[in-house]
Amino acid sequence: MFCSGCGNNIENNESFCSHCGKPVAEDASQNQNNRPTLIGYSPNIGSQKFAQYQKKSIIWSFLFAGILAVITIIAFPIYGNASGEIAWPNSLFYGMGIGGMFIAIAIGQTWRKKLDKTWDGVVIFKDAYRLRERTDNGITNYQNVYEMKIQKDNGGIKKYKWRNVIGTYNYYNVGDRVRHHKGLNYYEKFDKSNDKKILCIACMSYVDIEKDICPRCKCPLLKL
Ligand SMILES: [Zn+2]
Ligand SMILES: [Zn+2]
Repeated sequence: MFCSGCGNNIENNESFCSHCGKPVAEDASQNQNNRPTLIGYSPNIGSQKFAQYQKKSIIWSFLFAGILAVITIIAFPIYGNASGEIAWPNSLFYGMGIGGMFIAIAIGQTWRKKLDKTWDGVVIFKDAYRLRERTDNGITNYQNVYEMKIQKDNGGIKKYKWRNVIGTYNYYNVGDRVRHHKGLNYYEKFDKSNDKKILCIACMSYVDIEKDICPRCKCPLLKL
């Protein structure tokens, strides 16, 4: 079982959490009448369906980059010829340079996901405010800013700032224990027992917490 205070794995014979010191007996009675399947990190992150989804999304990102690359390689010489601004074969080289960049970006993104690591942390700060900005020609603009900070267990703070889009700001509360899963831009909550909705880790849509499978992408939701 898991500690309700910090998410630490607790051996059956322990009466206190070795990590944060919370009494275990109290946790057990609390869990029984409090939707026990919604407390703890879900093993569904390792599901086959989710692995398939991740594989597919990598294939799609390369396919998309490949199509963009082919279009630019063809379009540059055509544009160069029609406008007379870029001579052949320079137009082809420009096209190949920019087309190659799309492929390089896709490789870079995939590589970054592979190098990423899973870590645990706590949401320590949330703030929403309006930012006033004056542009050079005297017009005043307002921006809605949403900030969130997560303290990592192994040190360091992960900061988030959304501008004019709320992102996943409302999903988290200060004090939530969360887990960052390798390669994903999403935090699994340790305790989901007070939630009515759960975020699908694959397509990032909000789904009714009673469901087990995301109706949109068919991925198992991160529940126990
Ligand atoms: Zn604990
Ligand atoms: Zn989904």
